[in-house]
Amino acid sequence: ELFSPSTVKCGKYDRPEIIIVPYYFVIRSGKLPGVGMVHAPIALLPTSFPESHWKQACELAPIFNELIDRVSLDGKFLQDSLARTKKVDAFTSRLLDIHSKILEMNKKEEIRLGLHRSDYMLDEKTKLLLQIEFNTISSSFAGLGCLVTDLHRTLLNDYGEDLGLDSKRIPGNTATGQFAEALAKAWTEYNNPRAVAMIVVQTEERNMYDQHWLCTLGITYNVRTIRKTLAEIDSEGQLLPDGTFLVGGQAVAVVYFRAGYAPTDYPSESEWRARLLMEQSSAIKCPSISYHLAGTKKIQQELAKPNVLEKFLESKEDIAKLRKCFAGLWSLVDSDITKKAIEKPELFVMKPQREGGGNNIYGDDVKETLLRLQKEGSEEDAAYILMQRIFPAVSPTFLIRDSICHKDHAISELGVYSAYLRNKESVIMNDQCGYLMRTKVSSSNEGGVAAGFAVL
Ligand code: ADP
Ligand code: MG
Repeated sequence: ELFSPSTVKCGKYDRPEIIIVPYYFVIRSGKLPGVGMVHAPIALLPTSFPESHWKQACELAPIFNELIDRVSLDGKFLQDSLARTKKVDAFTSRLLDIHSKILEMNKKEEIRLGLHRSDYMLDEKTKLLLQIEFNTISSSFAGLGCLVTDLHRTLLNDYGEDLGLDSKRIPGNTATGQFAEALAKAWTEYNNPRAVAMIVVQTEERNMYDQHWLCTLGITYNVRTIRKTLAEIDSEGQLLPDGTFLVGGQAVAVVYFRAGYAPTDYPSESEWRARLLMEQSSAIKCPSISYHLAGTKKIQQELAKPNVLEKFLESKEDIAKLRKCFAGLWSLVDSDITKKAIEKPELFVMKPQREGGGNNIYGDDVKETLLRLQKEGSEEDAAYILMQRIFPAVSPTFLIRDSICHKDHAISELGVYSAYLRNKESVIMNDQCGYLMRTKVSSSNEGGVAAGFAVL
């Protein structure tokens, strides 16, 4: 009955295709962050996804972890690959400057922690699982994603039979616990019982309840956490000669970034100073500047070139598995591809070096932007990469945002979380850690949940 629009009823509302969900607070109760609450956008029911492709995505997680770690150690590869981008993209340029300073110091990150999410779409025509991107900074929704899994399982326990959906087919989602475990283990490796874990947050953080699960660090692992903005870190931070990083006089063992991935996170020099100071310290950065750069779209495109993976990995089997999930990726230097993209822009996505959704270029805008860049003959083309557009299967979905449920045709993107922790030669953790399914109306190009395009 749920799937038949004419029969959807809820309370006094009796309108086709719209359900008002009564139990959430839509009208924000205040302006302070965390007081004016609104529920995260969610899909009412889980999305189906082929088990074999699911397994494939899970299997790729530890291989990508290892690849990123090795790429992060190759400072020259990162600098050279991003050298042209540096000239035209001020944000990437600042990140590369920090990276250069760290290289000059000859500083080695001996304890390295990655909390990643690799995103995929299943291309309907070719039945290929293709990677959208690999996130190495602020991979979000591990916390809320697990809750949505619980919500869906609960709903299917109650209504699954009527809907023909089996709650047992919903895979367990352990992202929250495993990410907390990885942070706690990193804290242990740092080996200072008085040190804290610090979460770097945005000034007006809207997604704090996704980060709330980090509290389990305190409860389960007895690790104290503090939350600071980059500006606060600049004013309260201090680097001791031995590399210890203090904030408000307190030693920091692990710095976990939930901010710092976008230019808007650095409104003044203060934020950049904070980022550099932390990078120069012995605190474990998640991510380090090298991990951050290794997760850029330009590096994704460089890694997809022939014979590049071979520089970083030995196992032919692993290399083949990674390559199988690479979509077409090109730099704009490739004139054959730019010509093709001008002719058939709907088959491509143009991406700048940005994170967080809402930055990519689609459709006719691809054509216009490419023509403009050609005409101007500037080096601005180096700011972008071109990617094959992936077309996942479309299915009817109930999407709930601001307490209103819409039925629409939607497509989904599977994210697989992974954690990597290493201390010198010893790999302490290299695991797949749960998942996130994001769903958006098929007519929307972009996919960010926080950016307002998709639901969990
Ligand atoms: P961001 O770092 O902003 O999240 P993404 O590369 O993940 O950038 O792109 C944002 C969204 O755009 C994705 O979540 C996805 O919905 C859509 N998208 C990105 N690349 C492709 C592609 N090659 N084909 C189809 N959709 C894409
Ligand atoms: Mg993304």
